Amino acid sequence: MPTIETRNDRCAACNLCVLACSFHHEKAFGRRGASIDIVKNEREGEVEIVILDDPQTGRRACDGCVNEEAALCVTWCPVGALLAREN
Ligand code: SF4
Ligand code: SF4
Repeated sequence: MPTIETRNDRCAACNLCVLACSFHHEKAFGRRGASIDIVKNEREGEVEIVILDDPQTGRRACDGCVNEEAALCVTWCPVGALLAREN
């Protein structure tokens, strides 16, 4: 299973990765179904990409897009802020 690496400095906070991830898990679009969060600090103007890996949060953990041809969040990120690295 690949590990998803993040480049916060590239992220445009478009949330396409969140939608792609929820589609992978649930064939529906929504933040609750995704294993990825985009956290914006409005005051500082910074963005943090958070990959959830602990199912105890009540959210789905990243499964590396098992059964997909490629990690959908990586495929759909338009700016290369996500990278799948094989372990
Ligand atoms: S690799 Fe798949 S399951 Fe993991 S965060 Fe990306 S879209 Fe979600
Ligand atoms: S798709 Fe890429 S640019 Fe858009 S929110 Fe996700 S990581 Fe950031």
